[in-house]
Amino acid sequence: MLRPPRHGWILGLLLVTPVVWGNPEPAGADAAAFDAAFATALREGMGTTPAEGTAAVEALRATLPANDALRSRRFDAMACGAAQHDRKAYIANADTLLAAEQARSAPDATSLALLHACRAAYLVLGTDATVVERAYDAAVEAAQRSADPMLLGSMLSLRSDAHSVSGKFAKSLMDALAAQDVLDDSGERFAIAANLQVVGIAFRRMGEYARAEEYLLRSLEDEEIRSRWANTMTALLQLGYLYDETGRYDEARRMLADALELCQRHKNHAACAYARLGLAGVEVDDGAPRRALAALEQAEADFAESGDPGDPTMVALVRGQALARLGRDAEALPLLDRAVATWTTEGNDRYLALALPERARLLERLGREADAIADLRRFIEAHANDDRMRAEQRTDLMREQFDASRREVENAELKAREALRLKEIEGLNAARRWQWTAISLAVVLVIVLLVMVARQIAKARRLRLLAMTDPLTGLANRRHTDYRGSEAFKRARLTAQPFCVLAIDIDHFKLVNDTHGHAVGDTVLQRVGRECQRTLRQNDLIGRIGGEEFTGLLPVTAEPAARQVAERLRAGVESLNLDDVALGLRVTISIGVARMRDSDTNFAGLLSRADAAMYRAKQGGRNRVVSDETA
Ligand code: GH3
Ligand code: MG
Ligand code: MG
Repeated sequence: MLRPPRHGWILGLLLVTPVVWGNPEPAGADAAAFDAAFATALREGMGTTPAEGTAAVEALRATLPANDALRSRRFDAMACGAAQHDRKAYIANADTLLAAEQARSAPDATSLALLHACRAAYLVLGTDATVVERAYDAAVEAAQRSADPMLLGSMLSLRSDAHSVSGKFAKSLMDALAAQDVLDDSGERFAIAANLQVVGIAFRRMGEYARAEEYLLRSLEDEEIRSRWANTMTALLQLGYLYDETGRYDEARRMLADALELCQRHKNHAACAYARLGLAGVEVDDGAPRRALAALEQAEADFAESGDPGDPTMVALVRGQALARLGRDAEALPLLDRAVATWTTEGNDRYLALALPERARLLERLGREADAIADLRRFIEAHANDDRMRAEQRTDLMREQFDASRREVENAELKAREALRLKEIEGLNAARRWQWTAISLAVVLVIVLLVMVARQIAKARRLRLLAMTDPLTGLANRRHTDYRGSEAFKRARLTAQPFCVLAIDIDHFKLVNDTHGHAVGDTVLQRVGRECQRTLRQNDLIGRIGGEEFTGLLPVTAEPAARQVAERLRAGVESLNLDDVALGLRVTISIGVARMRDSDTNFAGLLSRADAAMYRAKQGGRNRVVSDETA
């Protein structure tokens, strides 16, 4: 059974999860160069060995603009620990920088996030899990304040890995999913791929092997991961551990051999040490303790060369197992004792469940049956605890996922409700728009109707006017003259006022037509009509009732006055100068006057008496006025 490294090289690698930086402020050419180098350092990391770290720090320092306080602090935060060879110096450096940043009146959230993460990464080595957790909480919180999605995604991803290391798989996966959400929007493909790798590792640690394998194999095929040897290394190691834990030893050997080749090509002893430790575990589990011991020796040599403390407890367990299986119990026992003691102190039930049965078998062989039984009892307990913890983690995960999906559902519901509200408002607006359209249309319609009505009225008036007007002279026609005459007759009767009527006829008009033509006759009719109208009073009316016959209505006029009016008409026509119509043309009219009598029953009777008087005027020689009153 193989146990993965819990810290060191892998975490050092994850600390440099890529981040893309927004420019903190309008930057000059120097500042822009630094920002670009800073972004690259975050994307590609600060190396995996102290030597590489030193080179990366110097490369970044070379771009640092002079007298730029903010960038200087960000440089320090990025360099934090990268070139430190010793863990104590590393943490001291992180603590100092962090305290200085926090003491500022306006701390830089970006620097704070990096410094918290820097501190947390090295605290993780043998520190109380809650202290590490708090450090990562602070890093995530600062990243949230920075409002930089890439920084936040990276910090969530780091905290996810820390949770998975300390066995809080549910929290780990929730952080990884949250990171995925944030990173998806960033479009930064490497950060997304690295985060998926973290998800795969967390699944492996919690025993979800099928899903872990899926994620890790996918990450191994990912272009972004393949182009970076250190990330490829992580995928190979993790798959090696996974296949070992599931008894697929040949596949495990193949993965770890690939890993070994890769780290050798890149001359990274720490990475090679973990690959060899992994191989040793596979050999023990697959019943090849001698090969396991050989691999362990090489692993220790690599650890010594790299300066990485490695995982001495795990080395002790694997060596103890190998020796025990070779029957070298005396050598094996102290190693197994050491592993059990360390993990008992740490309360690591999972690893105790690996060490205790091995020691129980050994103690039994040594005849210490009571101790062997005690170890088996403790094993059962540890195993049960480990199982329970994993079950709890799965439950936690399901609950968190349920909560998350419930939140999603609630959000979706809120969104749907909001959308509905917007739709309603839109509907209302549309209705309002339709209302306005309808109102506008109605107004237009009313205007059109009014115009039509007005036109109709005008037309009716025109028609009525046409109906009561003589087209040639513009005077009232026969029908209208009769109507007005009847009205005047009735009113005169009612008011007991006098009322006289004139019957006017042009003399020898046939002769005018015959001599000068019909057109001249027409013009003469117009001039005579106009002359009569000009001469009559406002309340009087003159109408053309036939060819060259006119009727005058003189309300509220007594017979003598009517005769005078008639005489004025006659004289006016007689003196009309018509030379412009036809040279030397003169016309006269004969007029009959009749007054309304008590015996009259209607207008027609009155008119016929005026007519009779007019005929008498013709007979009397024309161009004269004759009254009905005169015999
Ligand atoms: P008198 O003095 O007896 O009234 O003789 P007169 O010729 O005026 O009478 P008569 O009734 O014999 O002739 C009327 C003429 O008026 C006949 C007709 O040609 C003419 N006349 C009727 N209407 C019109 C018209 O609208 N235009 C013209 N130019 N002539 C008309
Ligand atoms: Mg006539
Ligand atoms: Mg006539």
